[in-house]
Amino acid sequence: MRIHCPVCGRENDAGPDFACRRCGCNFGDLDAVLASAAHHLAAAAAALRERDWQAALGGAERSWRLRHRASAARLAFLAAVSIGDTRLAASWLKCCASIDEESFPTRPNILTLRGIRNLIKKELRS
Ligand SMILES: [Zn+2]
Repeated sequence: MRIHCPVCGRENDAGPDFACRRCGCNFGDLDAVLASAAHHLAAAAAALRERDWQAALGGAERSWRLRHRASAARLAFLAAVSIGDTRLAASWLKCCASIDEESFPTRPNILTLRGIRNLIKKELRS
């Protein structure tokens, strides 16, 4: 597996015990951060399925702080919409768009209330 060092940007061969050949960044530590981000994301998805919007939002935000992924921003957006915090939802929507425009409908004509409800239903089923 090849990995771009998050500190200096050099591309390295990586495994759990590898360190960046340029700056010494420990990729084992990076694995732990990525695992924690995945854990918080899974907890957020579970909370969303249980309709615990605050817990879903908290988990998605914790995951986002560790790793910026569209899936974390999408969950945070859906939780914020469900709570009714439109300002927060709008800021998460911008994060979704900045990461991956293909996976999320961000054009105003697509993002109708019905569209949002369908996104939430789809998320609850997964
Ligand atoms: Zn490096």
